[in-house]
Amino acid sequence: VTMASSPAFQHVLERIAEEIERTPGRGRAADYIPALAALDPRRFGMAVGETDGTVYGVGEWRHPFSAQSITKVFTLALDLAGEGDALWEHVGREPSGNPFNSLVQLEYENGIPRNPFINAGALVVTDRLHTRTACAADTLLDFLRLESGNPELSFDMEVAASETAHGDRNAALAHLMASYGNIDNPVPVLLDEYFRQCSVEASCADLALATGFLARHGVRADGTRLLTRSQAKQVNAVMLTCGTYDAAGDFAYRVGLPGKSGVGGGIIAVVPGRCTLCVWSPGLDERGNSVAGVAALDRFTTLTGLSVF
Ligand code: GLN
Repeated sequence: VTMASSPAFQHVLERIAEEIERTPGRGRAADYIPALAALDPRRFGMAVGETDGTVYGVGEWRHPFSAQSITKVFTLALDLAGEGDALWEHVGREPSGNPFNSLVQLEYENGIPRNPFINAGALVVTDRLHTRTACAADTLLDFLRLESGNPELSFDMEVAASETAHGDRNAALAHLMASYGNIDNPVPVLLDEYFRQCSVEASCADLALATGFLARHGVRADGTRLLTRSQAKQVNAVMLTCGTYDAAGDFAYRVGLPGKSGVGGGIIAVVPGRCTLCVWSPGLDERGNSVAGVAALDRFTTLTGLSVF
């Protein structure tokens, strides 16, 4: 990993950080678990990773935070790489227009979640990955360590325990889907994997690098291929249409990139063929997306002209 500063990206990042610093309304940290509620919503970090592994950053770009739903991109890619299109018989790829933890569509769509990035869909993906690899969360962590080049990445077991203690809604989703035969493993086993998955601690630098395969059209950091070119396009497309839940339309309008948010305040985004981004600021809007994170990505694509449009 080279950290030499590229005048262009480094300059843009510093300008964005200054603008964000002056922005008053910054949202509220997630409050469903104590470990996240304690975070100052004004904290901020941002990194850009180039396809060759060079990474630039500003603010707290090396500070590990709770990756949460950002991990749903990696479990999707890992499962798609293993089982291919058969996955799409178990989870859809349409925007849901509902909150990330919503139950409503499951009953009238026979336990098939709308997409892999709402909680219901991510539970299906993790369930299938777990069946194929014997341990979904460890498979994810190994992948993130290799792609980021950071062997220190790990789960935050306090966050995972807290998720379990406040996990009634995710348990309800998993049980409802199990009743339709769309979950393979015992629900408590699946929830344990899913909550460990959500608890991964990683920095903007780590996650920008780990997302690199999506900017390299499916090719991993070591030059081997995880996804076909076509599958990488598909994952990016699902990120664009579903990655920020019921705000995906607004995110596409403002940012114009495939992106995926998490309630820890992180967002990853991809400029296919060019670079990846990760921004972190714990203050969320009412849909669970980082307020400063979306604003910073909006500024990045506006200042650089780098978007898929
Ligand atoms: N752990 C959170 C949950 O399952 C993840 C949701 C998110 O980041 N949007 O509710």
